[in-house]
Amino acid sequence: MLLEARALKKHFPVGRSLFGERDVVKAVDGVSFAVEAGRTFALVGESGCGKTTVAKLMLLLERPTSGEVIYRDQTISALSGSALSLFRREVQAVFQDPYASLNPRLRVRSIIAEPILAHERPGRREIDRRVDEALAIVGLPDGAGRFYPHEFSGGQRQRIAIARALAVKPKALVLDEPTSALDVSIRAQILNLLSDIQDEFGLAYLIIAHDLALVEHFSHTTGVMYLGTLVEEGPTAEVFAAPSHPYTQALLASAPRPDPDHVPATDVILGEIGSAMNPPPGCRFHPRCPHAFAPCDAVDPEPTATGASSWARCHLLTRRTPARASELGTVAS
Ligand code: SF4
Repeated sequence: MLLEARALKKHFPVGRSLFGERDVVKAVDGVSFAVEAGRTFALVGESGCGKTTVAKLMLLLERPTSGEVIYRDQTISALSGSALSLFRREVQAVFQDPYASLNPRLRVRSIIAEPILAHERPGRREIDRRVDEALAIVGLPDGAGRFYPHEFSGGQRQRIAIARALAVKPKALVLDEPTSALDVSIRAQILNLLSDIQDEFGLAYLIIAHDLALVEHFSHTTGVMYLGTLVEEGPTAEVFAAPSHPYTQALLASAPRPDPDHVPATDVILGEIGSAMNPPPGCRFHPRCPHAFAPCDAVDPEPTATGASSWARCHLLTRRTPARASELGTVAS
């Protein structure tokens, strides 16, 4: 595996309760997954489920409270010096808002050269060659480097952000809602570009997205997050065709699809996502789950295999099909 999260937790202290105890927001609470070279792993879930915090942990923009980020079989919290520098070069990010992520005072050529200079000391000619190469990969002409970010459209700015990430020849990209700030007509172009780049260079992608149509089209594996934990994971085609967890089922049923016959349901998920400061006991989804039964409010369900490489956390999986569940056993998340 190229990039892995192992039992990652990120808890943020947020002041003290009436009794003097420290309140803690459990933004990420024991998340594990792996991203392979040349493949895309998507994290989906409602706003506030913790997926953006996971992205920051994987980029070392936040340090985990516990658990590990593993890159090329090495724990990155133990990296220092040149090994840490190599990680920072090989794992790059593309963020949601190309308006905010590009320095408005720098010309595009300087923006793309910045990460090269942060990691290497090439000559001017080599920098120019690498910048032109990155611009060509994302479909912008050499001359684009002379202009400032505000002189480009939203889609072109996102191409510039991708070029900046590619300039240091990364092995993995963390894509945090990479198309959600763009017009619908431009989104497909950026996704096609990212697919082409993955095919050509074998990059691993971790994509954070709330657009399920995008995820279905773009990712190989999908992990569904709810209130800081992963509740289901599997090959994207399987998760979308036959979701096992009631939360995944509700999420998919309420999502718009590019199918003219699909009418998104509006009332399948009850209430609001709960508080990460005080998550419900047992299954965290139980206050909103239409199928909740006796153990759900007390016992946290274990991950149960639902296919050769898929699993979900739900007591229904062991109640409805006890023979099959015992055959399949449980798997580590
Ligand atoms: Fe619903 Fe219970 Fe399954 Fe949680 S464990 S999703 S509450 S049925």
